[in-house]
Amino acid sequence: MKRVVVFGGSFDPPHIGHQVLLRQVQQEVHADELWVLPVGQAVHRTLTEGVSAQQRLRWAQASFAAMDGVRVLDWEVTSPHPVASLESMRRVVDALDGGIPYWVLGMDAWRGLPSWVGYPDHQTRCHMLVVPRYGECMVDHVGWTHVVELSGAATAGCVSCVSQMPPAVSSTKIRQRVREGIDISQDVVPAILQEVLAAYR
Ligand code: ATP
Repeated sequence: MKRVVVFGGSFDPPHIGHQVLLRQVQQEVHADELWVLPVGQAVHRTLTEGVSAQQRLRWAQASFAAMDGVRVLDWEVTSPHPVASLESMRRVVDALDGGIPYWVLGMDAWRGLPSWVGYPDHQTRCHMLVVPRYGECMVDHVGWTHVVELSGAATAGCVSCVSQMPPAVSSTKIRQRVREGIDISQDVVPAILQEVLAAYR
């Protein structure tokens, strides 16, 4: 069974933290494939008006282009309705003929998981990989089994922590920096820098 890691995000905009995070996950899980899933219309949160889902998709494609094994999927972006993560998990499991993916969440996203649409069905669809994030502590949610060793196959209902912490960058901080005229050239890949500056100014 191939090891697939799925990494969903708003990517409003994609940043260096996303890339470092995915590289760390790739090393720890020895993934065969990394599927990046940009959000289309948001279910949970407000995205920047004036930055289209297609643009965030293109930015994600440009940001992860240099990484081996990455596929950026347009599933949620091309959907005519907001897609809950649970729906994407079902689609991934179908695409893997019933196989279970590793599903990446930053610590902040993991903390909020019980409020997601359809929770706790997520426990039957994926093995969660929680990435440490600056200022965030690990929390437990009922029903998930903690697994430390990542050499085994992904198992539904399990949660594991990635050992390294990516840089403390966030999309929110980048949008704010652009508005304040602060340099963001170290935070995003050069290929999207000018568009990001124009979008959030
Ligand atoms: P925003 O600031 O708008 O909330 P973000 O920087 O969290 O955006 P997203 O696209 O929402 O970026 O993130 C996708 C996933 O990556 C989420 O699960 C998030 O927790 C995680 N993530 C993003 N940046 C980091 C980081 N620097 N360290 C750890 N996890 C991160």
